[in-house]
Amino acid sequence: MDIQTRLIHAGEERIEGAVVLPIFQSSTFISQDEQDYDAIRYLRTNNTPNHHALHAKLAAVCGGEDALVAGSGMAAITTALMTLLSSGDHLLIQDCLYGGTHSYVTQDAPRLGIDVDFIAGNAPESWAGKLRPETRAIYVETMTNPLLEVADLEAVVEFAREYGLVSLIDNTFASPCNFRPLEIGFDIELHSATKYLSGHSDLVAGAIIASSAQVRAIRHKLNHLGGTLDTHVCFLLQRGMKTLALRMRQHNENGLRLARFLTGQEQVAGVNYPGLESHPQYERAQRLFSGTGGVLSFELQGGVASAERLLSRLTLPATAPSLGGAETLITRPAATSHCGMSPEDRAEMGITDGLVRVACGIEAARDLCADFAIAFSKV
Ligand SMILES: *Cc1c(COP(=O)(O)O)cnc(C)c1O
Repeated sequence: MDIQTRLIHAGEERIEGAVVLPIFQSSTFISQDEQDYDAIRYLRTNNTPNHHALHAKLAAVCGGEDALVAGSGMAAITTALMTLLSSGDHLLIQDCLYGGTHSYVTQDAPRLGIDVDFIAGNAPESWAGKLRPETRAIYVETMTNPLLEVADLEAVVEFAREYGLVSLIDNTFASPCNFRPLEIGFDIELHSATKYLSGHSDLVAGAIIASSAQVRAIRHKLNHLGGTLDTHVCFLLQRGMKTLALRMRQHNENGLRLARFLTGQEQVAGVNYPGLESHPQYERAQRLFSGTGGVLSFELQGGVASAERLLSRLTLPATAPSLGGAETLITRPAATSHCGMSPEDRAEMGITDGLVRVACGIEAARDLCADFAIAFSKV
């Protein structure tokens, strides 16, 4: 069935005839002679009916054998990495990463004896030079923040298979509606369900989709570390997921329409969006993705001062980090998500101080573009 139908029906269970699965607000359940630690029915062990429903829905939607939800995207990412990697192991990871993931692999992983090397997502010929006998895994993001670079994702899968590595992908920016990495051969798909999956900027959650064996191992680790998703949040995430396909259509439309509008503005020096023909990986995005999402970034001729003036004159976008909710959000990455980096490191990554990132919501594209047009006329 179509992903839109799977999002609504997969994993649903009708209890006492209720069309919507109720919230099981109980930390513990009557014992049924469980033999295994992970089978003990307790809220931290991620096995309430609310968890089961979400796991089945996520697995069906992403085309995986099994799935697991976690207390946040970072809980999903760090627990997956801690399950795969032990002291002495080596990880290859993309050089442009979500800030929390970057901090974890540069600050926490080395203290656990895990060595990390960065790879350029679009230079697959350079990856083999970084391999070691201890290399266990390769990790990328579907689209990088805030420049929306699309790594050579097919080469990642091929490389992992050739050298016996586990391939992981943070698919938050695409959502399973725009891209399903397991279908092209990735081993583990990760999400910050805080973003598109839940879709309303009102919760924090994470998701992992993989083979039954991988999910079982990660669940065991999660049960120890305690990054459980509360059942009330499970309920909200399940509700949000039912409208993912509808919402993604509008995010995709708004991203593309706003990117095209910005390209035509005199004050705009450049726009980064994989749905634009000018994007260096446009062809790859067209081939692999069903849509290019709601996030884009752009540079103004007038730099930081113009960017600040524009942000203060827009009326629809809220100045806040994050993405994937109903309302459009806007930030200047140098002042928010990437403020922890030195200006030199940012410049090397192509993130200038005047760069503006927009995470389009699901307002009408026309109104969004009109709001920018009025703001530009006053900048
Ligand atoms: C937000 C985000 C995360 C972290 O997710 P949380 O739910 O905030 O823990 C990880 N990866 C990407 C790409 C994100 O956008």
